[in-house]
Amino acid sequence: MRILLLGGTSEARALAALLHPHVEVISSLAGRVPDPALPVGQVRIGGFGGVDGLRDWLLGAGVDAVVDATHPFAATITANAAVVCRELEVPYLVLVRPAWPAGDAAVVDSDIQAAKVVVEKGFSRVFLTTGRSGTTAFKDADAWFLIRAVTAPDPHDLPSQHKILLSRGPYHYENELIVLREHRIDALVTKNSGGAMTRPKLDAAAALGIPVIMVDRPPLPDGVHTVATVDDAVLWVSSAPRS
Ligand code: NAP
Repeated sequence: MRILLLGGTSEARALAALLHPHVEVISSLAGRVPDPALPVGQVRIGGFGGVDGLRDWLLGAGVDAVVDATHPFAATITANAAVVCRELEVPYLVLVRPAWPAGDAAVVDSDIQAAKVVVEKGFSRVFLTTGRSGTTAFKDADAWFLIRAVTAPDPHDLPSQHKILLSRGPYHYENELIVLREHRIDALVTKNSGGAMTRPKLDAAAALGIPVIMVDRPPLPDGVHTVATVDDAVLWVSSAPRS
């Protein structure tokens, strides 16, 4: 059996490791980071070229199924994969890690809304963890930002007062406490990414009474089959029909 595994997450790497070598897995990465953590097995890197490119790729590769284990905020590739798999009648599964409970967080539906909350509430020292493409919305906010990302944002997309922390998870509770205290953070902005690797910032913020602004996930395409765990994705692959 041969599957396309849309990846870029720890779950995708874990799934590739469990399936390989019993299943022929072709993992696909977007190519956003220069030194990605690579899964075991075959890997292709780079976009497909939209819906048309993905359709051509799938027709050429002859895969039996597609497992989409991309990040919950990678909405474009998920929308494209859902459309093409439906059209080609290729079995399609989305492995989506459970969302974090919002708790007392202010839940917003976009970075722009999150920036509005920062301004309205008068926060002045903000820990911004929405990633390299998530800084633009905060450009004009009158606050100081500690921006944590895997790769540096474009300098044109940055608020004037900021410090950049380049790092990659997993993060740990004690260190997150230090980061929040040392930078005298008064608000945390995060996407609702879910998962354990980046969760400790929420626990540290709660312990220090720091308000959280949480960007909600984009919706999944209608009608797609989902599982929440890597083990359930393995079960789905084992029972998917071979072409
Ligand atoms: P996106 O907005 O959904 O996708 C933008 C374009 O990038 C897609 O149209 C596709 O290009 C290409 N692409 C995305 N994922 C791909 C994959 N796995 N393999 C091949 N091409 C892919 O995605 P994104 O939010 O920029 O995320 C890019 C990658 O980073 C994803 O693989 C995701 O799992 C990972 N990631 C994202 C986040 C996040 O917060 N968004 C966090 C951690 C990891 P074409 O249209 O040319 O095919």
